[in-house]
Amino acid sequence: MDSADEMDILTLESSPENDAALRTKAEKVQKIGPEYKKITQEMFQLLRDGKGIGLAGPQVGRNERIFVTEVDKDQPRVFINPTIVGTSEETGKYEEGCMSLPGVFADVTRPLEIRVQAWNEKGRPFTLDAEGLLARVIQHENDHLEGILFIDRLSEPKRASILRKYHKKRHN
Ligand SMILES: [Zn+2]
Repeated sequence: MDSADEMDILTLESSPENDAALRTKAEKVQKIGPEYKKITQEMFQLLRDGKGIGLAGPQVGRNERIFVTEVDKDQPRVFINPTIVGTSEETGKYEEGCMSLPGVFADVTRPLEIRVQAWNEKGRPFTLDAEGLLARVIQHENDHLEGILFIDRLSEPKRASILRKYHKKRHN
């Protein structure tokens, strides 16, 4: 997608193309050029408009390893080509939702603390130790870069039941 195009959030089951975009492993950003300032600004705008806390490239039709988070107001964070390099052994459950699965919420178990390495929109590398909600949202968004949705982390019966309800709601 050209950055001049209007960005929009893709939701599951809105079209076969959108489903494919959400289910594709994203590609590495080759060069973090000046256009990434505008791209991330647009992503933050969509995030705030939708009252979300994290949004990944594949969710806006960009097949790139990039996501943004804003867990605390006035603390927007950009992650380009991120790698989760460490996770705590301790895990915990917390209710997650996703802007690409409107109306769906479920408890997901994940490590409570992580260490992530990434680059920001200015092309500067950084390492961040995160815990709590920030650690969770980073893992959720990082999954999007692999084509993984949070419902994939649930037990198969739970996932099937959620998808059945979601499908019914969308097609009625
Ligand atoms: Zn999501």
